[in-house]
Amino acid sequence: MAGNSEKSKVRTPAQDIVFDCPHCNKSLSIDPRGAGLMIVCPDCEQQVQVPGVPLTERNQEGAAVATPPPDSADLAEALEAAHAKIERLVESLEETRERRRYLEKVRADNMARYELISKDLVTIQNAVDRIVAIIQDATTEKTSENG
Ligand SMILES: [Zn+2]
Repeated sequence: MAGNSEKSKVRTPAQDIVFDCPHCNKSLSIDPRGAGLMIVCPDCEQQVQVPGVPLTERNQEGAAVATPPPDSADLAEALEAAHAKIERLVESLEETRERRRYLEKVRADNMARYELISKDLVTIQNAVDRIVAIIQDATTEKTSENG
């Protein structure tokens, strides 16, 4: 009884693939990850293929079941949303560029206007200078008349 339970305890890897070597009929047990692989029998040193479906293939099937279509639909939706976002960003970028171009044009216009104003200011300054000179002349004339 006790020996039985101990034996089952030792043979814990129930998932181990147990098969007989086709060459020497020795009972072989191998880790499930070895399924489908070619191994060398430790007894007769002949190449033996481990029976069973390779774990990777089973994993792929399991993954296919684990990731149902809704997930990919969500992904497609997210991708579409991302695309829409990018389109909006590109649009706003275009708007920003247009606005920048407009502001640059306004700035250029202002610069031109500023230059015109500067010229006008020079003209006005010259006129003021002339007026000041005329007034000064008149004042000196008046003073000399008086004196
Ligand atoms: Zn063998």
